[in-house]
Amino acid sequence: MSSPVWHPFTQHALAGAMIPIARTEGAHLVTEDGRRILDAISSWWVITHGHRHPAIMAAIREATESLDQIIFAGFTHAPAERLAEGLLKVAPPGLARVFYSDSGSTSVEVALKMALGFWRNTGETRSRIVVMEASYHGDTIGTMSVGERGVFNAAYAPLLFEVERIPFPAAGREAATLAALEAACAKAPAAFIVEPLVLGAGGMLMYRPDLLKAMRETCARHGVLFIADEVMTGWGRTGTRFACDQAGIVPDILCMSKGLTGGALPLAVTLCRKEIFQAHYSDDRAKTFFHSSSYTANPVACAAALANLEVWNEEPVTARIDALCALQEEMIAPFRDDPRFESVRRCGTITALDLKARDAGYLAGIGPRLYDFFLERNLLIRPLGNTIYLMPPYCATRADLEPAYAAIAAAADALA
Ligand code: PLP
Repeated sequence: MSSPVWHPFTQHALAGAMIPIARTEGAHLVTEDGRRILDAISSWWVITHGHRHPAIMAAIREATESLDQIIFAGFTHAPAERLAEGLLKVAPPGLARVFYSDSGSTSVEVALKMALGFWRNTGETRSRIVVMEASYHGDTIGTMSVGERGVFNAAYAPLLFEVERIPFPAAGREAATLAALEAACAKAPAAFIVEPLVLGAGGMLMYRPDLLKAMRETCARHGVLFIADEVMTGWGRTGTRFACDQAGIVPDILCMSKGLTGGALPLAVTLCRKEIFQAHYSDDRAKTFFHSSSYTANPVACAAALANLEVWNEEPVTARIDALCALQEEMIAPFRDDPRFESVRRCGTITALDLKARDAGYLAGIGPRLYDFFLERNLLIRPLGNTIYLMPPYCATRADLEPAYAAIAAAADALA
Protein backbone atom coordinates (compact mmCIF):
# COMPACT_ATOMS: atom_id res chain seq x y z
CA MET A 1 0.00 0.00 0.00
CA SER A 2 1.56 3.29 -0.96
CA SER A 3 1.46 6.09 1.57
CA PRO A 4 1.27 9.83 0.87
CA VAL A 5 3.57 10.56 3.82
CA TRP A 6 7.03 12.01 3.16
CA HIS A 7 9.26 10.98 6.05
CA PRO A 8 12.19 13.02 7.42
CA PHE A 9 15.80 12.12 6.60
CA THR A 10 14.47 9.23 4.51
CA GLN A 11 15.49 8.26 0.99
CA HIS A 12 12.17 6.72 0.02
CA ALA A 13 13.64 5.14 -3.12
CA LEU A 14 15.91 3.02 -0.92
CA ALA A 15 14.03 2.72 2.36
CA GLY A 16 11.77 -0.24 2.99
CA ALA A 17 8.18 0.20 4.10
CA MET A 18 7.77 2.24 7.28
CA ILE A 19 6.91 0.06 10.27
CA PRO A 20 3.57 0.93 11.86
CA ILE A 21 3.83 1.29 15.63
CA ALA A 22 0.69 0.56 17.61
CA ARG A 23 1.92 1.20 21.16
CA THR A 24 4.88 2.45 23.11
CA GLU A 25 5.85 0.95 26.46
CA GLY A 26 8.82 1.99 28.60
CA ALA A 27 11.93 1.32 26.52
CA HIS A 28 10.01 -0.36 23.70
CA LEU A 29 8.01 0.30 20.56
CA VAL A 30 5.35 -2.30 19.84
CA THR A 31 4.48 -2.81 16.17
CA GLU A 32 0.97 -3.40 14.83
CA ASP A 33 1.90 -7.04 14.31
CA GLY A 34 3.13 -7.37 17.89
CA ARG A 35 6.94 -7.08 17.60
CA ARG A 36 8.62 -5.42 20.59
CA ILE A 37 11.50 -3.23 19.41
CA LEU A 38 13.99 -1.81 21.91
CA ASP A 39 14.09 1.97 21.43
CA ALA A 40 17.84 2.19 22.00
CA ILE A 41 18.00 5.77 20.69
CA SER A 42 15.03 7.09 22.69
CA SER A 43 13.12 7.92 19.49
CA TRP A 44 15.58 10.52 18.20
CA TRP A 45 16.79 11.30 21.70
CA VAL A 46 13.54 12.68 23.12
CA ILE A 47 12.30 9.99 25.50
CA THR A 48 14.09 10.24 28.84
CA HIS A 49 12.27 8.30 31.60
CA GLY A 50 10.66 5.84 29.19
CA HIS A 51 7.71 5.94 26.80
CA ARG A 52 4.37 6.97 28.30
CA HIS A 53 5.55 7.74 31.80
CA PRO A 54 2.30 7.54 33.82
CA ALA A 55 2.70 10.90 35.61
CA ILE A 56 3.38 12.74 32.35
CA MET A 57 0.48 11.04 30.56
CA ALA A 58 -1.83 11.91 33.48
CA ALA A 59 -0.72 15.55 33.43
CA ILE A 60 -1.46 15.75 29.71
CA ARG A 61 -4.95 14.30 30.19
CA GLU A 62 -5.64 16.66 33.07
CA ALA A 63 -4.42 19.74 31.20
CA THR A 64 -6.76 19.03 28.30
CA GLU A 65 -9.72 19.24 30.70
CA SER A 66 -9.30 23.01 30.87
CA LEU A 67 -6.90 24.35 28.20
CA ASP A 68 -5.85 24.00 24.59
CA GLN A 69 -3.65 26.44 22.64
CA ILE A 70 -4.03 30.10 23.54
CA ILE A 71 -2.32 33.14 22.08
CA PHE A 72 0.77 33.83 24.18
CA ALA A 73 1.05 37.57 23.55
CA GLY A 74 -1.16 39.59 25.88
CA PHE A 75 -2.17 36.38 27.67
CA THR A 76 -0.51 33.79 29.80
CA HIS A 77 -1.47 30.61 31.66
CA ALA A 78 -0.51 28.79 34.83
CA PRO A 79 1.37 25.89 33.19
CA ALA A 80 3.74 28.29 31.39
CA GLU A 81 4.25 30.51 34.46
CA ARG A 82 4.86 27.60 36.81
CA LEU A 83 7.11 25.84 34.34
CA ALA A 84 9.28 28.92 33.81
CA GLU A 85 9.71 29.31 37.57
CA GLY A 86 10.50 25.62 37.91
CA LEU A 87 13.03 25.66 35.07
CA LEU A 88 14.92 28.62 36.53
CA LYS A 89 15.25 26.70 39.81
CA VAL A 90 16.97 23.71 38.18
CA ALA A 91 18.86 25.39 35.32
CA PRO A 92 22.40 26.67 35.88
CA PRO A 93 22.05 29.60 38.32
CA GLY A 94 22.02 33.11 36.87
CA LEU A 95 19.62 32.50 34.00
CA ALA A 96 16.64 34.77 34.46
CA ARG A 97 14.17 34.62 31.57
CA VAL A 98 12.44 31.80 29.72
CA PHE A 99 11.32 32.16 26.10
CA TYR A 100 9.03 29.43 24.77
CA SER A 101 9.03 27.80 21.37
CA ASP A 102 8.26 24.38 19.97
CA SER A 103 11.31 22.48 18.73
CA GLY A 104 15.02 22.22 19.23
CA SER A 105 15.66 24.13 16.02
CA THR A 106 13.43 27.01 17.02
CA SER A 107 15.06 27.20 20.45
CA VAL A 108 18.40 27.68 18.66
CA GLU A 109 16.96 30.18 16.16
CA VAL A 110 15.63 32.12 19.15
CA ALA A 111 19.05 31.98 20.82
CA LEU A 112 20.78 33.37 17.71
CA LYS A 113 18.17 36.12 17.35
CA MET A 114 18.44 36.99 21.05
CA ALA A 115 22.21 37.33 20.65
CA LEU A 116 21.98 39.60 17.62
CA GLY A 117 19.14 41.57 19.18
CA PHE A 118 21.25 42.06 22.30
CA TRP A 119 24.10 43.61 20.34
CA ARG A 120 21.89 45.74 18.12
CA ASN A 121 19.88 47.06 21.05
CA THR A 122 23.02 47.90 23.01
CA GLY A 123 24.40 49.86 20.08
CA GLU A 124 27.16 47.55 18.84
CA THR A 125 27.09 46.02 15.40
CA ARG A 126 28.09 42.43 16.00
CA SER A 127 26.60 39.67 13.92
CA ARG A 128 29.20 36.96 13.37
CA ILE A 129 28.59 33.59 15.05
CA VAL A 130 31.43 31.29 16.05
CA VAL A 131 30.66 27.57 15.89
CA MET A 132 32.43 24.26 16.43
CA GLU A 133 33.09 21.99 13.48
CA ALA A 134 30.94 18.82 13.33
CA SER A 135 28.13 20.57 15.21
CA TYR A 136 24.44 20.06 14.56
CA HIS A 137 21.86 22.57 15.73
CA GLY A 138 18.83 21.80 13.55
CA ASP A 139 17.51 21.88 10.01
CA THR A 140 16.15 25.39 9.57
CA ILE A 141 18.14 27.87 7.48
CA GLY A 142 19.65 29.58 10.54
CA THR A 143 20.46 26.40 12.42
CA MET A 144 21.94 24.77 9.32
CA SER A 145 24.12 27.85 8.93
CA VAL A 146 25.64 27.34 12.37
CA GLY A 147 25.92 23.58 11.86
CA GLU A 148 28.44 21.53 9.92
CA ARG A 149 28.20 21.80 6.15
CA GLY A 150 27.78 18.59 4.22
CA VAL A 151 25.53 16.49 2.10
CA PHE A 152 22.48 17.33 4.26
CA ASN A 153 22.58 21.01 3.47
CA ALA A 154 24.54 21.25 0.21
CA ALA A 155 21.38 22.08 -1.77
CA TYR A 156 20.57 24.98 0.54
CA ALA A 157 24.11 26.34 0.82
CA PRO A 158 23.26 29.51 -1.17
CA LEU A 159 20.82 30.47 1.60
CA LEU A 160 23.13 29.78 4.54
CA PHE A 161 25.06 32.56 6.24
CA GLU A 162 28.79 32.48 6.87
CA VAL A 163 30.12 31.63 10.32
CA GLU A 164 33.55 31.21 11.85
CA ARG A 165 34.45 27.61 12.68
CA ILE A 166 36.79 26.30 15.34
CA PRO A 167 38.03 22.70 15.40
CA PHE A 168 36.47 20.00 17.54
CA PRO A 169 38.72 19.43 20.61
CA ALA A 170 39.73 15.88 19.71
CA ALA A 171 42.30 14.26 21.97
CA GLY A 172 45.60 16.01 21.37
CA ARG A 173 43.94 18.94 19.60
CA GLU A 174 42.45 20.64 22.67
CA ALA A 175 44.95 23.50 22.66
CA ALA A 176 44.23 24.18 18.98
CA THR A 177 40.51 24.47 19.73
CA LEU A 178 41.07 26.90 22.57
CA ALA A 179 43.55 28.95 20.55
CA ALA A 180 41.10 29.12 17.62
CA LEU A 181 38.31 30.25 19.92
CA GLU A 182 40.60 32.87 21.46
CA ALA A 183 41.46 34.20 18.01
CA ALA A 184 37.83 34.15 16.88
CA CYS A 185 36.67 35.95 20.02
CA ALA A 186 39.32 38.65 19.56
CA LYS A 187 37.47 39.65 16.36
CA ALA A 188 34.39 40.62 18.41
CA PRO A 189 31.79 38.18 17.14
CA ALA A 190 28.24 38.23 18.51
CA ALA A 191 28.23 34.76 20.05
CA PHE A 192 29.73 31.30 20.21
CA ILE A 193 27.30 28.37 20.07
CA VAL A 194 28.23 24.88 21.15
CA GLU A 195 26.78 21.50 22.06
CA PRO A 196 28.15 20.90 25.59
CA LEU A 197 30.20 17.67 26.05
CA VAL A 198 28.64 15.67 23.20
CA LEU A 199 28.24 16.65 19.53
CA GLY A 200 25.26 14.48 18.68
CA ALA A 201 24.34 14.23 15.02
CA GLY A 202 27.93 15.15 14.08
CA GLY A 203 28.96 11.67 15.25
CA MET A 204 28.49 11.44 19.03
CA LEU A 205 31.84 13.16 19.47
CA MET A 206 32.67 13.69 23.14
CA TYR A 207 34.95 16.14 24.91
CA ARG A 208 35.89 16.91 28.49
CA PRO A 209 34.07 19.27 30.90
CA ASP A 210 37.28 21.23 31.61
CA LEU A 211 37.41 22.18 27.92
CA LEU A 212 33.81 23.33 28.01
CA LYS A 213 34.71 25.44 31.04
CA ALA A 214 37.76 26.88 29.28
CA MET A 215 35.66 27.78 26.22
CA ARG A 216 33.10 29.48 28.42
CA GLU A 217 35.86 31.47 30.15
CA THR A 218 37.36 32.52 26.82
CA CYS A 219 33.99 33.91 25.72
CA ALA A 220 33.50 35.67 29.05
CA ARG A 221 36.94 37.31 28.84
CA HIS A 222 36.10 38.74 25.42
CA GLY A 223 32.48 39.62 26.20
CA VAL A 224 31.24 37.17 23.56
CA LEU A 225 27.84 35.62 24.31
CA PHE A 226 28.07 31.90 25.06
CA ILE A 227 25.14 29.82 23.81
CA ALA A 228 24.82 26.26 25.12
CA ASP A 229 22.67 24.05 22.89
CA GLU A 230 21.47 21.44 25.39
CA VAL A 231 18.65 20.25 23.12
CA MET A 232 20.13 16.74 23.12
CA THR A 233 22.43 16.79 26.17
CA GLY A 234 19.85 18.25 28.58
CA TRP A 235 17.73 16.32 31.04
CA GLY A 236 20.27 13.78 32.16
CA ARG A 237 21.75 12.32 29.00
CA THR A 238 25.35 13.14 29.93
CA GLY A 239 24.91 11.93 33.53
CA THR A 240 23.93 15.27 35.09
CA ARG A 241 20.71 17.18 34.51
CA PHE A 242 22.53 19.54 32.18
CA ALA A 243 25.94 18.99 30.61
CA CYS A 244 26.90 22.53 31.69
CA ASP A 245 26.54 21.38 35.31
CA GLN A 246 29.57 19.09 34.90
CA ALA A 247 31.71 22.03 33.88
CA GLY A 248 30.18 24.26 36.58
CA ILE A 249 29.37 26.89 33.95
CA VAL A 250 26.45 29.18 33.31
CA PRO A 251 25.92 30.05 29.65
CA ASP A 252 24.47 33.41 28.61
CA ILE A 253 21.80 31.57 26.63
CA LEU A 254 20.67 27.96 27.06
CA CYS A 255 18.54 25.97 24.59
CA MET A 256 16.43 22.99 25.67
CA SER A 257 13.84 20.78 24.02
CA LYS A 258 13.58 16.97 23.53
CA GLY A 259 13.64 15.67 27.16
CA LEU A 260 11.96 18.84 28.47
CA THR A 261 8.58 17.06 28.39
CA GLY A 262 10.18 13.67 29.01
CA GLY A 263 9.80 13.41 25.24
CA ALA A 264 6.02 13.16 25.26
CA LEU A 265 5.12 16.41 23.47
CA PRO A 266 6.98 19.02 21.42
CA LEU A 267 8.14 22.00 23.45
CA ALA A 268 11.30 24.08 23.66
CA VAL A 269 12.68 26.90 25.74
CA THR A 270 15.52 29.34 25.40
CA LEU A 271 16.75 30.64 28.75
CA CYS A 272 18.86 33.77 29.01
CA ARG A 273 20.58 36.06 31.47
CA LYS A 274 18.76 39.17 32.57
CA GLU A 275 21.10 41.47 30.60
CA ILE A 276 19.84 39.95 27.36
CA PHE A 277 16.21 40.47 28.33
CA GLN A 278 17.08 43.96 29.62
CA ALA A 279 18.58 44.89 26.24
CA HIS A 280 15.16 44.23 24.71
CA TYR A 281 13.25 46.02 27.51
CA SER A 282 12.65 49.56 26.36
CA ASP A 283 10.00 52.17 25.63
CA ASP A 284 11.33 51.96 22.09
CA ARG A 285 9.12 49.40 20.32
CA ALA A 286 11.83 48.78 17.74
CA LYS A 287 13.78 47.00 20.49
CA THR A 288 11.08 44.34 20.94
CA PHE A 289 12.18 40.73 20.58
CA PHE A 290 10.46 39.98 17.29
CA HIS A 291 9.93 36.26 17.44
CA SER A 292 6.96 34.00 17.87
CA SER A 293 5.48 30.77 16.65
CA SER A 294 1.76 30.07 16.73
CA TYR A 295 2.09 27.24 19.23
CA THR A 296 4.38 29.10 21.61
CA ALA A 297 4.03 27.75 25.16
CA ASN A 298 1.34 25.23 24.32
CA PRO A 299 -0.39 24.68 27.70
CA VAL A 300 -0.65 20.91 27.33
CA ALA A 301 3.04 20.62 26.48
CA CYS A 302 3.88 22.94 29.39
CA ALA A 303 1.84 20.69 31.69
CA ALA A 304 3.81 17.70 30.42
CA ALA A 305 7.07 19.54 31.13
CA LEU A 306 5.84 20.45 34.62
CA ALA A 307 5.10 16.78 35.22
CA ASN A 308 8.64 16.00 34.00
CA LEU A 309 10.00 18.41 36.64
CA GLU A 310 7.91 16.61 39.26
CA VAL A 311 9.20 13.24 38.10
CA TRP A 312 12.75 14.57 38.59
CA ASN A 313 11.80 15.81 42.08
CA GLU A 314 9.81 12.85 43.28
CA GLU A 315 11.34 9.80 41.65
CA PRO A 316 14.92 8.56 41.94
CA VAL A 317 15.77 9.85 38.46
CA THR A 318 19.37 10.66 39.38
CA ALA A 319 19.88 7.19 40.81
CA ARG A 320 18.37 5.67 37.67
CA ILE A 321 20.70 7.72 35.50
CA ASP A 322 23.71 6.74 37.64
CA ALA A 323 22.72 3.08 37.32
CA LEU A 324 22.33 3.39 33.55
CA CYS A 325 25.73 5.14 33.29
CA ALA A 326 27.32 2.24 35.21
CA LEU A 327 25.52 -0.34 33.10
CA GLN A 328 26.52 1.38 29.87
CA GLU A 329 30.15 1.51 31.04
CA GLU A 330 30.08 -2.19 31.88
CA MET A 331 28.57 -3.07 28.50
CA ILE A 332 30.88 -0.92 26.38
CA ALA A 333 34.06 -1.91 28.28
CA PRO A 334 34.77 -5.16 26.36
CA PHE A 335 34.70 -3.22 23.09
CA ARG A 336 37.55 -0.97 24.20
CA ASP A 337 40.12 -3.51 23.15
CA ASP A 338 38.15 -5.07 20.32
CA PRO A 339 40.25 -4.46 17.18
CA ARG A 340 37.12 -4.25 15.01
CA PHE A 341 36.14 -0.96 16.64
CA GLU A 342 37.82 2.36 17.33
CA SER A 343 37.06 5.41 19.46
CA VAL A 344 34.99 3.42 21.92
CA ARG A 345 33.52 6.13 24.14
CA ARG A 346 30.90 7.01 26.73
CA CYS A 347 29.57 10.23 28.17
CA GLY A 348 26.95 9.66 30.86
CA THR A 349 24.17 7.47 29.50
CA ILE A 350 25.44 7.70 25.90
CA THR A 351 27.86 5.18 24.40
CA ALA A 352 29.35 5.26 20.92
CA LEU A 353 31.86 3.28 18.95
CA ASP A 354 33.11 3.43 15.39
CA LEU A 355 33.05 0.20 13.44
CA LYS A 356 36.19 -0.09 11.35
CA ALA A 357 34.73 -0.31 7.89
CA ARG A 358 36.05 0.39 4.43
CA ASP A 359 33.23 2.82 3.74
CA ALA A 360 33.02 5.31 6.59
CA GLY A 361 31.06 8.59 6.57
CA TYR A 362 27.38 9.38 6.76
CA LEU A 363 26.39 8.26 3.27
CA ALA A 364 28.40 5.06 3.48
CA GLY A 365 26.36 1.95 2.80
CA ILE A 366 27.46 0.53 6.14
CA GLY A 367 24.98 2.77 8.03
CA PRO A 368 21.78 1.37 6.46
CA ARG A 369 23.20 -2.16 6.51
CA LEU A 370 23.83 -1.88 10.25
CA TYR A 371 20.38 -0.36 10.78
CA ASP A 372 18.70 -3.28 8.99
CA PHE A 373 20.86 -5.81 10.84
CA PHE A 374 19.77 -4.36 14.21
CA LEU A 375 16.12 -3.98 13.22
CA GLU A 376 15.96 -7.65 12.22
CA ARG A 377 16.94 -8.30 15.86
CA ASN A 378 14.21 -5.98 17.20
CA LEU A 379 16.63 -3.19 18.04
CA LEU A 380 16.14 0.42 16.99
CA ILE A 381 19.74 1.58 16.60
CA ARG A 382 20.30 4.18 13.88
CA PRO A 383 24.04 4.47 13.22
CA LEU A 384 25.56 7.70 11.96
CA GLY A 385 27.54 6.15 9.13
CA ASN A 386 29.90 3.68 10.81
CA THR A 387 29.33 5.24 14.24
CA ILE A 388 27.07 3.02 16.32
CA TYR A 389 25.65 4.62 19.44
CA LEU A 390 23.16 3.80 22.16
CA MET A 391 21.16 6.48 23.97
CA PRO A 392 18.43 4.48 25.71
CA PRO A 393 15.69 5.80 27.99
CA TYR A 394 16.59 5.69 31.69
CA CYS A 395 14.25 2.75 32.32
CA ALA A 396 16.34 0.46 30.08
CA THR A 397 17.53 -2.62 31.95
CA ARG A 398 20.42 -5.05 31.68
CA ALA A 399 18.04 -7.48 29.97
CA ASP A 400 17.27 -4.77 27.39
CA LEU A 401 20.87 -3.77 26.74
CA GLU A 402 22.66 -7.12 26.70
CA PRO A 403 21.09 -8.17 23.40
CA ALA A 404 21.88 -4.74 21.94
CA TYR A 405 25.60 -5.09 22.67
CA ALA A 406 25.58 -8.71 21.54
CA ALA A 407 24.08 -7.52 18.26
CA ILE A 408 26.78 -4.86 17.89
CA ALA A 409 29.46 -7.56 18.25
CA ALA A 410 27.58 -9.80 15.81
CA ALA A 411 27.26 -6.93 13.34
CA ALA A 412 31.03 -6.50 13.38
CA ASP A 413 31.43 -10.19 12.51
CA ALA A 414 28.83 -10.02 9.77
CA LEU A 415 29.42 -6.62 8.20
CA ALA A 416 32.81 -5.07 9.03
N1 PLP B 1 20.25 20.97 18.60
C1 PLP B 1 20.74 19.75 18.86
C2 PLP B 1 21.99 19.62 19.66
C3 PLP B 1 20.08 18.61 18.40
O1 PLP B 1 20.60 17.40 18.64
C4 PLP B 1 18.88 18.79 17.65
C5 PLP B 1 18.15 17.61 17.13
O2 PLP B 1 18.62 16.51 17.12
C6 PLP B 1 18.42 20.07 17.41
C7 PLP B 1 19.11 21.14 17.91
C8 PLP B 1 17.17 20.30 16.61
O3 PLP B 1 16.06 19.88 17.33
P1 PLP B 1 14.67 19.57 16.58
O4 PLP B 1 14.89 18.37 15.76
O5 PLP B 1 13.70 19.39 17.69
O6 PLP B 1 14.37 20.79 15.75
